[in-house]
Amino acid sequence: MIPYEDLGKLNQPFFKELEKDFQDSLQSGWYILGNKVKHFEQAFADYCGANYCVGLASGLDALVLALKVLQLPKDAEVLVASNTYIATILAVINAGFKPVLVEPDINTYNMDPEKIEERINARTKAIMLTHLYGKVCQMDKIEAICKKYQLHLIEDCAQAHGAKFKGQQAGTFGLGAFSFYPTKNLGSLGDGGALTVKTEQEATLVKSLRNYGSAKKYHNDHIGYNSRLDEIQAGFLSIKLRYLDEITAHKRTLAKLYHDNLKGDFIKPQVHPDFFDVYHIYNIRHPKRDQLKKYLLENGIGTEIHYPIPPHQQKAYQKIFKGESYPIAEEIHQTTLSLPISFAHSTNDIEKVMEVMNQF
Ligand SMILES: *Cc1c(COP(=O)(O)O)cnc(C)c1O
Repeated sequence: MIPYEDLGKLNQPFFKELEKDFQDSLQSGWYILGNKVKHFEQAFADYCGANYCVGLASGLDALVLALKVLQLPKDAEVLVASNTYIATILAVINAGFKPVLVEPDINTYNMDPEKIEERINARTKAIMLTHLYGKVCQMDKIEAICKKYQLHLIEDCAQAHGAKFKGQQAGTFGLGAFSFYPTKNLGSLGDGGALTVKTEQEATLVKSLRNYGSAKKYHNDHIGYNSRLDEIQAGFLSIKLRYLDEITAHKRTLAKLYHDNLKGDFIKPQVHPDFFDVYHIYNIRHPKRDQLKKYLLENGIGTEIHYPIPPHQQKAYQKIFKGESYPIAEEIHQTTLSLPISFAHSTNDIEKVMEVMNQF
């Protein structure tokens, strides 16, 4: 069996270091907002090429707090891709704003710059992009639109740690919301997230918001949240961050194998020199996706679907997007299949997957 994911195996190379760090955290007696969080924030900001980074409890919280930092008017509309993971849309709703969906480009799966302007009106205040599957969006065109209409930019970088567009890294174009959910390219052993920001003022505000709106103990300057990255996870993340480039390189090697050897029946992710993709997910599309998934499972290969139901058709969101249709998102959701591509997979595993796939 080649599973889609095996987190125990994935983390095995780091066990010794993680165990030692856990002992250290355990004995320190300091479990929330201490030196390990500070150290990780600095290390991750440096890694991204961002000015500041603030550790948070999850990727969803990072998206919500990014919206709070912008202090948008109550009736603000925020543009979000129609095929993103639900968290991006949920963040807009939880922050009290209206999500407006923009269709993706069928070749990149990212928000289509050509379809943004038709969704902009006087209430539109921000674009919240998702760098889906580990590919950064078409940032030159999108930055030009933001400038033209004076829109704020938030990047959902949950799948794009270290991904680049023309050499510039995800999380440095706007406010960068990261998730460290265990399956992400930089994954903790629990929940975790972070927001990268440009100014010290923004960093100070996010640090206050994550801690009950308080900078000084028992003094509340803002209506805040409890959204702190904890010391144990920060310690683990600092260790794994040192291996992130190795993890990315491994995934890129596996992606290239797929790219070069999978037969043409499968629509593969676009490869273009402007984009440094980190392949959080390697998806292909095929009209008989469900049959393919079943066939692969019968042959001992685990796959996933990211995602089976588009956000506007989810039960909880049908009212919000009533009467709207997003045919490109629907097409992607009906045909996409994610293949094994983790740090725990060997090139041999991928050869086996391709051998079975090419006989479909
Ligand atoms: C994982 C993910 C999130 C949410 O991150 P959590 O840490 O689970 O809250 C948000 N957006 C995208 C695109 C994701 O893949």
